Amino acid sequence: MLHLVGMSAVHPERCRAEDLLLIGDIGMECSANGQASRPDLFKAKLERPSGLSRKLDEQHIPDLRVIAGAGERELYTRDQADVPQLLKDALIDYHPEVVVQPFTYQAVASILEFARAHNIPVIPRGSGSSPFGGSIPVNGGLVMDVSTLDRVLEVDAQRKLVRVQGGCRWADVDHALSQHSLRLITCPSSRFSTVAGWICGGGYGVGSLGGGHLRDITTSLKLATTKGIVTLQPSQEEFRAVFGSEGQLGVVLEATLRVKGKDRSSRPHLVILKDLERAMDLAASIRSLDPLPEDLIYFSPGKLRHANELLGSEHFRTGHALLVTSSDERSEKGLCKLFSSSGVQEGEGYQARLLWHERYFPMKLRRLGPGMLGSEVLAPTAHLGRILQRAEDLCQEFALDPLLEVHFLQGPESLLLCYYLTDQTNQSLYTLDAAKSMIVTSSLMELGARPYSLGVWNNSFSDRWPREEMERLRKAKEELDPSGIMNRGKYLALKGRMFGGAGVIFSPKGSGLGFDVMARMHAPIAPFLRSLSAFSRRVMAPKAVDPLVRVANQCSMCGACISVCPAYALTKDERVTARGKLLTAKAMAEGGEVGREHAHRTFLCMRCKACEQVCQSRLELIPAYEVLEDRLEKVHGKDHVEIERFVRMAEASAHYEEMVSRGLVLGAPKNSMGGERRV
Ligand SMILES: Cc1cc2nc3c(=O)[nH]c(=O)nc-3n(C[C@H](O)[C@H](O)[C@H](O)COP(=O)(O)OP(=O)(O)OC[C@H]3O[C@@H](n4cnc5c(N)ncnc54)[C@H](O)[C@@H]3O)c2cc1C
Ligand code: SF4
Ligand code: SF4
Repeated sequence: MLHLVGMSAVHPERCRAEDLLLIGDIGMECSANGQASRPDLFKAKLERPSGLSRKLDEQHIPDLRVIAGAGERELYTRDQADVPQLLKDALIDYHPEVVVQPFTYQAVASILEFARAHNIPVIPRGSGSSPFGGSIPVNGGLVMDVSTLDRVLEVDAQRKLVRVQGGCRWADVDHALSQHSLRLITCPSSRFSTVAGWICGGGYGVGSLGGGHLRDITTSLKLATTKGIVTLQPSQEEFRAVFGSEGQLGVVLEATLRVKGKDRSSRPHLVILKDLERAMDLAASIRSLDPLPEDLIYFSPGKLRHANELLGSEHFRTGHALLVTSSDERSEKGLCKLFSSSGVQEGEGYQARLLWHERYFPMKLRRLGPGMLGSEVLAPTAHLGRILQRAEDLCQEFALDPLLEVHFLQGPESLLLCYYLTDQTNQSLYTLDAAKSMIVTSSLMELGARPYSLGVWNNSFSDRWPREEMERLRKAKEELDPSGIMNRGKYLALKGRMFGGAGVIFSPKGSGLGFDVMARMHAPIAPFLRSLSAFSRRVMAPKAVDPLVRVANQCSMCGACISVCPAYALTKDERVTARGKLLTAKAMAEGGEVGREHAHRTFLCMRCKACEQVCQSRLELIPAYEVLEDRLEKVHGKDHVEIERFVRMAEASAHYEEMVSRGLVLGAPKNSMGGERRV
């Protein structure tokens, strides 16, 4: 039985002063009832609301930013995945009618009440860094950007617990913990993604071998549903159902997580072996150690080759690599003993540290394409050798150069990533390569693998999802969202354009069957696909690519730059961020119209370089902003007074001060690294 709190009593519990070691981190105070108060947003002229946004505006819901402007809403029409445009246009209506940013739980509750009363789909969104389409609409509706609920509420150093809001980003949780010599047990390599986004869309990441799934370290969840706010405990079926639910049950407001102490003896080790079989045997021995190491990753020869190319030097010799990281002193001793008894030669310490550091930049390679595609599956660990070989062989048959990675987990499955570079500037080649990734995924399913995440683009394989988990999700949906507005039209019943036809096309009996047949007939179809790719590369490649579009295509749209941008902290408007500016540049180059208000928002930038510091693709962003601003100024002029007012306000903000002290804002006048905005 669930403990439901009625809509009229949605105030979260009070922070218990005796347990409280740290509240809030960047710039905002936490009020006595544990909620962040609304920041003083920079006020500027905004487009007038119309349609649904006007209706919502008329409700006068406190602590809510309603995004009405077409340009700003456009930034919510995609997540990290760059799905071929043709396919997207044909199948789904990915334009939200309105986007909202709530700053309190009461605002979330009021929105859910409004949406239920008007039967409007609600699509929760964190950083938008998932590649599966969970945070984009398929039938319009209301996108709720919950990354505004971003506070670390409580660090209990004694009990080793942290209580955070759902929109809090992992990097900020870790930063808050480090003040108490604590750290996360596990986190995604997308440290800029939100806690709720990973709860609802993933759960395996860095540290998963020792720490297990995110569900195993979560001790409680607070969820806003259309029936009220519920607190869920691990013993409840609904608690389990929230993990991987892709926003179909409610809005995750808070989570309490177990954390651990920092341990100086933990360190990475690298072993490079000649053949795959030996690498898998050694991995099996490492997995049988007690205590388990924190993390174990396999890298294929292709992955090491590309790492050398990106790092500009032959750091790693060709081979099958295992990167293993001990968790504490005992685990470190166990590993060293295993290596010496099995006679394996370790690589240099610096090589191991280099690869371990790169764990937070998996999309860096994308700039070499520009573009990257692939599949992510959970595969039976016992058959990994065979599955990796199949992935390698099939990619080569299709003229793809695969980069394979396995993240070893507890239990019978491991996470296998099979990526390859593609050229996103050539849409016909890109569409073809996207189809190949589905065939490769289907072929891996034949050997017992299953999709890592549910999602629009994985719906062809939804029948491979464990029946028990699907049933749990279905029951929780009936209980928590009987009106069916949460992420409506998604995986439990995918709909889309053509009177819901997308659901039929992207179904196990539609495209799933098609990919299955192609995977079985790979030998006769491979030469045909290779010729088509060669033709596309030769004939369909664009003659010239606008330099700004080139940078935009190198961007992995991960959103890391948003979390550190002082201009965003002050406006909560993605148009001022690197990701927003690159999308604006792309839209302009493709002939899209950029309005005056949109242009003037783009100018609100401090040139502080925090975005360049954290950029996943290591892009030189400041020169790109100069070109974009010149182009926009020619059409719309520039309001220097507004820019100056903005820069002065941002420089005086607590967020900016925090970023300077964390060493992120290289362009700050204090840091004398140049780059600051001259106004
Ligand atoms: C460089 C890079 C590295 C990555 N590494 C990993 C990794 O190690 N492991 C991994 O699993 N994934 C990884 N990902 C994928 C992705 O970043 C993660 O799944 C991430 O946790 C998603 O969080 P988000 O805040 O971006 O969520 P979004 O993409 O915004 O949303 C994901 C899903 O969660 C739902 N959702 C978001 N917020 C809420 C909320 N408050 N309440 C209810 N539902 C909500 C959305 O509706 C959607 O269905 C990586 C991505 C990138 C770009
Ligand atoms: S330079 Fe600073 S203010 Fe400008 S987009 Fe980058 S992080 Fe934001
Ligand atoms: S600019 Fe860099 S950090 Fe920002 S979304 Fe693109 S790749 Fe990620």
